[in-house]
Amino acid sequence: MISVHDSSVFENRLARVRAAMSQQGVDVLLLSVGHDLPYLTGYYAMPLERLTMLVVPVDAAASMVIPRLEAPRVTEMPSVFSLVPWNETDDPVAIVAKLVGAATTIAVGDQMWARFLVELLDHCPHAHYRRAVDVVGPLRMAKDAAEIEALRAAGAAADRVAVQLHAGEIALIGRTEAQVSADISARLIEQGHDIVNFAIVAAGENAASPHHHAGPRVLKQGDIVLCDFGGTMNGYCSDMTRCVHLGDVPSDIADAYAVLHQSQAAGVAAGVVGARCESIDAASRQVINDAGYGEFFIHRTGHGIGMEAHEDPYMVSGNARLLEAGHAFSVEPGIYLPGKWGMRLEDIVVATPGGPESMNFANHSLVVL
Ligand code: ZN
Ligand code: ZN
Ligand code: ZN
Repeated sequence: MISVHDSSVFENRLARVRAAMSQQGVDVLLLSVGHDLPYLTGYYAMPLERLTMLVVPVDAAASMVIPRLEAPRVTEMPSVFSLVPWNETDDPVAIVAKLVGAATTIAVGDQMWARFLVELLDHCPHAHYRRAVDVVGPLRMAKDAAEIEALRAAGAAADRVAVQLHAGEIALIGRTEAQVSADISARLIEQGHDIVNFAIVAAGENAASPHHHAGPRVLKQGDIVLCDFGGTMNGYCSDMTRCVHLGDVPSDIADAYAVLHQSQAAGVAAGVVGARCESIDAASRQVINDAGYGEFFIHRTGHGIGMEAHEDPYMVSGNARLLEAGHAFSVEPGIYLPGKWGMRLEDIVVATPGGPESMNFANHSLVVL
């Protein structure tokens, strides 16, 4: 699925993971369902009951334990890992435990089924268990040139849908949020996405709920319509939010939107290499606080993005992590007045040595339709 890579990319990533393991005293890394596995091997485990697990000892060859019937799905890369297929009557956790051997510190992926970890605890009761995110996370956060190109392409595809929205090509008045959401989803695919991850359409008072589920509410004249959509294209995600207004914009909404627009720009501008993640949140929040809307901005300013729509690093107060070149994240402040209206403006940004680079260019104004 990650067409932008070849086996040398995976060899390089695995070498860097092993370096992090030895630095942190991790003897073996175990990855199953989730995105760390495809990041290191190109293969997405089926999220079903049968165990798939990559076993990476710090100083020996890596193996992928996989159900025999799913082995044909995997592109073997002998320089990266070998396959260990298991049969329906085997105990796959026992196979993993044998590969783990006498390792005393085991790092496990966040999304491994609890069931497998619980069974592994019986097989390796004396080991210390840690989270794999400490060894794989920093690598996944710092995107390489091919990954940034993939994010750029996904961002451009989402942008084309936003341009259609702004041009009035997506019918709004008289349709339900759910119908508009389905329309936006179809257009994301048309523009090149492989999967749609979400298409939030929230009209009027519903826009005050940041993660509103598009429903039967019919869009009508006078509504603000919040559209937050994104998908996965060649393994990397898009995610953007634009609002449009159906008919004349009342002054309270126009005033708040001007503040939101300025807040979002301030957050993007703060996304420079070496800045603390929390300073992006602070930059966006300051503008909204100063204008008196602080209590109506009820979420963090952004999340990391890459193979997953939400991943590290998070742009949130308390996150002192320093931005590095290649860190990709959303800047998405919002203002939500319960029972009345809501608004959010979101772009994806990559921190580069030359400053913050936006993946989205569609009009940032509150377009009137
Ligand atoms: Zn969200
Ligand atoms: Zn979004
Ligand atoms: Zn987002």
